[in-house]
Amino acid sequence: MADHNFSIEFFPPKTPEGTEKLRATRAKLSELHPKYYSVTFGAGGSTQQGTLDTVRDILAAGEEAAPHLSCVGGTRESIRKVLADFKDAGVGRIVALRGDLPSGYGGAGEFRYANELVEFIRAETGDHFHIEVAGYPEMHPQARSPQDDLQALVRKVQAGADSVITQYFYNADAYFQFIEQTQKVGINVPIVAGIMPITNYTQLLRFSEMCGAEIPRWVRLKLASFGDDSASIKAFGLDVVTSLCERLLEGGAPGLHFYSLNQAAATTALWQRLVK
Ligand SMILES: Cc1cc2nc3c(=O)[nH]c(=O)nc-3n(C[C@H](O)[C@H](O)[C@H](O)COP(=O)(O)OP(=O)(O)OC[C@H]3O[C@@H](n4cnc5c(N)ncnc54)[C@H](O)[C@@H]3O)c2cc1C
Repeated sequence: MADHNFSIEFFPPKTPEGTEKLRATRAKLSELHPKYYSVTFGAGGSTQQGTLDTVRDILAAGEEAAPHLSCVGGTRESIRKVLADFKDAGVGRIVALRGDLPSGYGGAGEFRYANELVEFIRAETGDHFHIEVAGYPEMHPQARSPQDDLQALVRKVQAGADSVITQYFYNADAYFQFIEQTQKVGINVPIVAGIMPITNYTQLLRFSEMCGAEIPRWVRLKLASFGDDSASIKAFGLDVVTSLCERLLEGGAPGLHFYSLNQAAATTALWQRLVK
């Protein structure tokens, strides 16, 4: 795994206790030597200061941090300001997204899709940032078709994206098929697989419903059968996700991006199995 691109995602904590807890989580995860930590960004202004503060904290510890930046609800002026703040903080890598507006939020903003954001970042800051964008092996839930969604990815890469991180998935074949399709349409940047460890069944169902990730029927049935037995859910989840990661790496995935949900245990356990 040492030569792979291995990164870990956090969300910005909302309280001082959360900040302390995340520092402790990061101290544990740092033993795995990830290439960088990314930090999510709330569309519509909800967590943006938190993203910057968390990124500053990571950089101050001498590690690489990549803030996410979503453009929906933003204006050219507001995004320009965020880019300047990131640059001043010493950021060299951004995950550029459209984002989803919180329900009830009215402002549509000046950007419609992520390719417009990538184009804007390049126009404003040249090659300063390494830009990651999102890809969807199982299709983005709002896309009209897989082909349309693939074209959206083509536009993001043509606008200047350097690499792709995928939405999480549990079907390795969906990833491999996606890679094949991207190659056919001339996308030749690395496509790192997004990995969601399984630790909590109810939460996983909720997330997957929102983002369109399929939980295979047999996995769902098994998880449901454990009821409140959290230890069995975690042990089974670890087996399923370890073999997914093994298949992905054996099949040529250039790296893994772990959605840690600010927890160290599941990512560490997975990692230890993969490097064995
Ligand atoms: C790795 C990763 C990290 C994420 N981090 C965050 C985060 O920090 N904050 C956050 O709010 N959300 C985050 N998300 C969620 C993401 O913002 C949502 O999935 C959002 O709905 C789409 O963002 P995008 O950048 O993929 O959008 P886009 O690439 O713009 O695509 C959005 C939808 O529009 C379609 N589309 C694109 N262009 C066109 C066009 N010209 N005409 C018609 N349809 C078009 C696409 O097919 C797709 O269905 C993340 C997702 C991933 C995979």
